[in-house]
This record gives sequence, structure tokens and C-alpha cells, in this order.
Amino acid sequence: MLNKKSIEDLNVKGKKVLVRCDFNVPLADGKITDENRIVAAMPTIQALVKAGARVILCSHMGKPKGEPKSELSLAPVAVRLAEKLGQPVLFVKNDAVVGENVTKAVAEMKDGEIILLENTRYRKEETKNEDNFSKELAELADIFVNDAFGSSHRAHCSTVGVTKFVKESAVGYLMQKEIEFLGNAVNHPERPFVAILGGSKVSDKINVIKNLLDKVDTLIIGGGMAYTFAVAKGGKVGNSLLEEDKVEYARQMMEDAKAKGVKFLIPVDTVITQEFKNDTAFKTVSTLEIPDGWQGLDIGEESRKIFTDAIQGAKTVIWNGPMGVFEFENFAGGTRAVAEALANIDAVTIIGGGDSAAAVNQMGFGDKMTHVSTGGGASLEFLEGKELPGVAAVEDKE
Ligand code: AMP
Repeated sequence: MLNKKSIEDLNVKGKKVLVRCDFNVPLADGKITDENRIVAAMPTIQALVKAGARVILCSHMGKPKGEPKSELSLAPVAVRLAEKLGQPVLFVKNDAVVGENVTKAVAEMKDGEIILLENTRYRKEETKNEDNFSKELAELADIFVNDAFGSSHRAHCSTVGVTKFVKESAVGYLMQKEIEFLGNAVNHPERPFVAILGGSKVSDKINVIKNLLDKVDTLIIGGGMAYTFAVAKGGKVGNSLLEEDKVEYARQMMEDAKAKGVKFLIPVDTVITQEFKNDTAFKTVSTLEIPDGWQGLDIGEESRKIFTDAIQGAKTVIWNGPMGVFEFENFAGGTRAVAEALANIDAVTIIGGGDSAAAVNQMGFGDKMTHVSTGGGASLEFLEGKELPGVAAVEDKE
């Protein structure tokens, strides 16, 4: 269990509560294209409103690199959040995030009201965790609640620094839920425990593989990262993604898995093309025999069957990273097969944020999973066994 102060431990009636949310939602032409993170933030906001708090919300959005960028304003989030909550959310625009108009708006708040501040990354101090901005944020409130799981792996002013200057801090419901699901799955899994890793780079997931090898019964590797393992097995991978400097590491990992009695699966077959695009000729070959000039963009039918069989018997599954270039419909089949297998088993199924969460939601399997994480980078760092600074900074339970 998470030994941090939570919403239940707070007395918020009439108090100003600054809540760090993760409203870093994808936008296209100023419109929110995926509102999952807004929906996920609602339980904490609603509980605070109900308890009579004056709720001041903050978040980052994208990477404005320390200066105001109107296309990364949180204004559209205030509108969507108000619609979802069925109550006004006052967006207090200030390019410095805090300032005279913000102080005035906060002073005029009544119990149960909500305001949203501008993108915290408009300030250059934010990502450097500099005290002046942390202090300015803290001065707005009596209590700080961190509910931004997706940003909890970053030590920034609004996730970590601010806790130094507020009287009281706690984690929100989303943060609790994320850590409970991910933590239970990794540390107390019902067995067999299967982890599936995919995506483009081995180097991003080295520490995840290392950590999980001590915990899982089966490790499945797909996506672009599989070809480095194929080369380590003596295969030829043509123009597929390959990290030459990680081949030795991949070989070592497969040896370690053997020594630990962990089943280690890489794709036996691969869908290959000569061009990196959707509308192009493709065929399926052995993963170890990809001809020059061709590249693997998805796992083949035989691999889908082997992976699905391994998933079938599992009681706990964690999945991070797509099996292929799922953004191209012709190469989304492997990712879809894995998503479908997870949707249909009677097991704890955890999707670790980022592209695999996007794929699962996009393919319509999101609500069939036990938990779809809102944090890509944060869930990866959690799976590495690292302590998340945004969580560590919150007060312990008394
Ligand atoms: P990551 O950010 O490392 O989780 O990688 C996700 C990205 O990996 C997605 O955009 C996929 O399109 C890409 N990807 C997955 N499989 C392959 C592959 N075989 N070749 C190239 N890119 C891939």
C-alpha cells in the first residue's frame, strides 16, 4: 500500500487546494482529440468540490520550453472539464501562470468553486524545479494535492518543488489508483505473470527488462526492439530497426532469462516491406531471415499465435509498447491480436500508458482492460523499479 497522505486524510472545507493534474492531452487544431486524462482527473476534483474545498487546478501541456505558446494554452481543457463536471471552471489566463489576476481570482473563490491556471511550462523555472516558481505556486494554496501520475517521474516545480513550501500535501485518487494497480501487478502478481514489451527502442526499455526478469514467468518482446534480439540470436534483419550497440546486451538478457527460468519469446515471423508506409507491398518471412532492403513493420501470424497462447494462460499481464507500426492499418494486426487476447482473458491486465494505451483505446478494447495507465514515461519508470519523485515528495501518512 502507498504510505502517503491521501484525500481522505485531509480536512479541506473552506481551504484553498492546489491540485497538480495531468491535463497534457493531445490537441489537433485547438481541439482535444483524447479526453482520457481529463476524465481520469475528475474523481479527485469532484471529491474536493463535494468536501467544500476551493479547487485550484494546474498542469503542463506539451513542451512550450519556458515561454507562452498560445497553441499550448490550457484554455480548451477548462471548457471540456466544465462540460464533463457540469459546473463552471474559471480559466485564469496569465502567461506567467501566477500573478495579480490569479491572486485576485483565488481570493474571490467560494467553497466548491474551481479555477484552472495556465500551462505551468510557460515558465522556464518549471522544468528546472527552481524555488521561486515553486513558492509562487505554493503561496496560492493551503494544501497541495498531486494527482498527475503522468508527470510524477519529473521533478518539476509543480510536481516536487511546491511540496517544500505548502503546509500540507497529499496524493490524489488517480495517483493512488495508478500506483496501486501497477504496484500490485509488479510486486504481488497472481501467476503466471506475463510482461509484453514492444515499441521502437531497446535502449528505452533496458532497465524495465532487467527489473521484470526477476519477477515475470514469461517475457514477450515485439515491435521494432525485437530485431536487436533477432540479431543477438544470429539472425539477419535487413533494414529493420536495429541497435547494434545493444546486441550484446540483448544476448545477455536472453541468457539471464534462461538461467532464471523465464520464458523469453521474440517473434518467429515478421511482416516486411521495402518502404516505410501503409500502402506498399508486404510479405511475411522468418524474423531471422529478413532480406537486405526489407524491413519488419509487424509481427507475423505465427508469432501472433504463439504470443496469444502465452497470454491465454496468464493471470497477470503488463503490456508496454506496440507490436508493430500500428499507426499504419496494414501493420496494426499484431498489436490488435495482442490487445484482443488481453481483452478476452480472465486476468489482471495492465496497459502501461503511451502508445500501447493509445492503441488499445483506439481499437476499442480500453474498457476491457483492468487498468489503462495515463502515464507513459511514468509507468515505464515505475516498471524499472524507480521511485517516482512526484510521489516521494508528498507527505507520508501519519
Ligand atoms: P516507443 O515510443 O518506443 O514505445 O515506440 C512506439 C513506436 O514504435 C510506435 O510509433 C510504432 O510505430 C513504433 N514501432 C513499433 N514497431 C516498429 C517496427 N517494427 N519498426 C519501426 N517502428 C516500430
